[in-house]
Amino acid sequence: MSLDSNPNSPSSRGASKGDNPFRALPSVDEILKQLNGEIIGGESRLAAIPQSVRAELAQGALADLRTRIGKESLSAAAVEDHMASGAFAAELLERCQREAGRGVVSAVNATGVVLHTNLGRAPVHPEVAARMATAASGYCVLEMDRFSAKRNERDGRLGVLLARATGAETGIAVNNCAAAAFLMMQTFAGGREAIVSRGELVEIGGSFRVPDVMARAGAKLVEVGTTNRTRIGDYDAAVTDDTGLLMKVHTSNFRVVGFTEEADAADIAKLGRDRGITSGWDLGSGRFEAAGAKSLDVVGDETVVRDAVASGMDVVAFSGDKLLGGPQAGLIVGRRAAIRALRKNPIYRAVRLDKVALSGLEATLEMLATGRGDELPSRRLMHLTREDLRPVALRIAAALNALPPFRADVIDSESQPGSGSAPTVFLPSVAVRMHWTGGGAQALAEALRAGEPPVFVRVQDDAVLLDPRALLDGDADRLIAAFHGLAGSSSPQK
Ligand SMILES: *Cc1c(COP(=O)(O)O)cnc(C)c1O
Repeated sequence: MSLDSNPNSPSSRGASKGDNPFRALPSVDEILKQLNGEIIGGESRLAAIPQSVRAELAQGALADLRTRIGKESLSAAAVEDHMASGAFAAELLERCQREAGRGVVSAVNATGVVLHTNLGRAPVHPEVAARMATAASGYCVLEMDRFSAKRNERDGRLGVLLARATGAETGIAVNNCAAAAFLMMQTFAGGREAIVSRGELVEIGGSFRVPDVMARAGAKLVEVGTTNRTRIGDYDAAVTDDTGLLMKVHTSNFRVVGFTEEADAADIAKLGRDRGITSGWDLGSGRFEAAGAKSLDVVGDETVVRDAVASGMDVVAFSGDKLLGGPQAGLIVGRRAAIRALRKNPIYRAVRLDKVALSGLEATLEMLATGRGDELPSRRLMHLTREDLRPVALRIAAALNALPPFRADVIDSESQPGSGSAPTVFLPSVAVRMHWTGGGAQALAEALRAGEPPVFVRVQDDAVLLDPRALLDGDADRLIAAFHGLAGSSSPQK
């Protein structure tokens, strides 16, 4: 049904419309009727669009068409054609789909990058997700010891689990590692000096630059050494009565190679102890090794959190959703006195962790502690070999080769752990390489992103590559369904 099949629409009133193209347009009410009926009626995903927003979408589409009429001097007949052809209805449908498809929606990660910041980093284990859902949907024991009825810290239990997992005395949890680094700088070096190596003054991404954050924390940054070489003597020589923090920052997303030297964490920690200055290490990636789980050495020489703690640094910060494989969080472990100082800072209250992420972290650490680390999705995905991945790639390629506009073959490729951990490490992987008669690789990647479900891919050498490494249960079928959507056919099975 097209808009002008409505006998009351102005465009159907024959002679009265004359040649005025604007009079060939339907009214907003008529468009809304069509929107609510044939367009949204059949699409349950669009049912949640409120009436007021539907009216805005209708008005927007109409306004754009009016502009087009002016710009392109469209005739009344051309406008009628546009309506009758269903092109206007198709555009309304697309506007509705975009409205309903924005926000945090489930996506398929075919980039091969396991810890993809734009795609939500580590997917948590289903048991962890269930614990998080329980915490979210009801009341939970959060800031009280239920056996003594005394008030306590929300992250008290997590502190115990972190201590067991890392060898630290205790720990504390905040919103993310950026918040952890800020809290560390502000607590120990606010109004004082912090010494950092010039080789570690990095930008971690999303405009989080160590010197800028330092300034916002009210700390005076004292740079020592050079980009490629910094020795413990450089730190020693820079210490003054005003030094509050000796800080080490992991250069997560880049590497300096060649003629390089950095001060040992153990030496920095010892200098701090000798001079009565707190030492802190922003580790970022947070590699965990646990009994009963395969080593994460596949990500290269990332520092293990336990080793960082053993170096003697007073506090060590790392992310919850990088190599640990839990929900988003910033975790700081270390000496009791130093952690107490972090807790006493009013800023801790502003960046502390919510109950949902806390429950997820507890569950993640419990899985690691009970020898179930290999079940954590991000760890499992990082260990997949070419031999594991090839059958998945071949199955996807076979399904996509059955769709006329596409041709697929399977090639060897490499994927990355992601999220700035191990920038020089590549994991041997395979990929389904796509050929498409519909346009270039970027156009296909774009269409897949906008499709249902959204699929994110790698574009390399002008081809779309589908890397199965980061596909979770059911994702291969969802990916195939998305291609069926693009090919204009319905999915083979639902
Ligand atoms: C990733 C990273 C951060 C930021 O961590 P988020 O959890 O994303 O806030 C801070 N410092 C280092 C060294 C990092 O690698």
